Amino acid sequence: MKIGTIASHSALNILSGARAEGFDVVLYCTPDRRKFYSAFGLADAIVEVHSFDEILDTSMEDTVLIPHGSFVAYIGADRILASDLRLFGNKELLRWEENRALKDRLMREAGLRVPREYASVKDIQTPVIVKTYGAAGGQGYFIAKNAEEAQEKMRPDQLYSIQQYVVGTKVFVTYFRSLAHDRTEVFGADIRYETDADANLRFDDTPSFIVVGNLPLVLRESVLAKYYQMGEDFVRGFQRLTGQDIPGPFCLETIIDRQQQIYTFEFSGRIVAGTNIWIPTSPYSYLQFGEQMWMGRRIAREIRELMEQGRLEEALT
Ligand code: AMP
Ligand code: AMP
Repeated sequence: MKIGTIASHSALNILSGARAEGFDVVLYCTPDRRKFYSAFGLADAIVEVHSFDEILDTSMEDTVLIPHGSFVAYIGADRILASDLRLFGNKELLRWEENRALKDRLMREAGLRVPREYASVKDIQTPVIVKTYGAAGGQGYFIAKNAEEAQEKMRPDQLYSIQQYVVGTKVFVTYFRSLAHDRTEVFGADIRYETDADANLRFDDTPSFIVVGNLPLVLRESVLAKYYQMGEDFVRGFQRLTGQDIPGPFCLETIIDRQQQIYTFEFSGRIVAGTNIWIPTSPYSYLQFGEQMWMGRRIAREIRELMEQGRLEEALT
């Protein structure tokens, strides 16, 4: 059996980890990226595609695909959900992630503190962040001090979600849900560095939130303990709502305010690129395994252990 992915986002992380666990790997790669991935020793693993959505029509019986952020960006959630790709993880969770109402319901069911949502401009009582529907990378978002300012900036023909703007430090925490060990592991934390929201100088009030990269973060241990519980609660919440588990990595996207209250504004039900900073290991995965363990390798280890237990199908959708 092979482990495969598309050439973007966290492909190096995933495939190096699969190799470390003894798997053959496949990289679905566009011609423009071939040289880059070859430079990392993946030349013999490359299957060239002209666009990533070609994988929808590619036969890959003996390959398990590891989905990452570029699957939705380049192929689209609807087409992934409708496909019969053998993906590691839970496609149902992708459906909950894609739909703002479902997303909100899951976060509340899990008992997470979420920013207030305002159904209409009239209800606004705090500074807000106004999000366009289906925006990629926060494009088209804006912030407003109050209802009047929000009203001025909103376009009548556009659908928005209006959220309380939480002032604080953004913290992204990644977990790994292991079916083989029936446990939730807290894997690592990072800060997403966004332009120009994170720039020191800002001359406009519609900052963009385009990700530039990620910075490592090691949390206060007492705070980490809270996040550990939040990860468990998230898994339990999803189980209560759907009767299903969440195999593999997921991430809670949060803001800690000055009262140390943790607001969760978003989640990802798959590997996030923030785990790229934890190659070859995160402090917590090192403590857990006593060896270097990065996310790509953690995924492959789980696949191997589930195969040994004859349970791999439980982690594939
Ligand atoms: P790219 O191949 O870099 O254009 O990224 C493909 C998709 O993954 C885009 O939707 C990006 O916003 C997302 N992405 C890439 N890197 C990161 C990152 N470090 N954090 C969050 N999202 C990312
Ligand atoms: P999202 O598309 O929901 O992942 O949001 C993109 C970016 O907007 C995040 O990475 C944060 O920097 C910022 N953001 C989102 N929601 C909030 C919020 N409720 N309060 C403050 N900043 C937020």
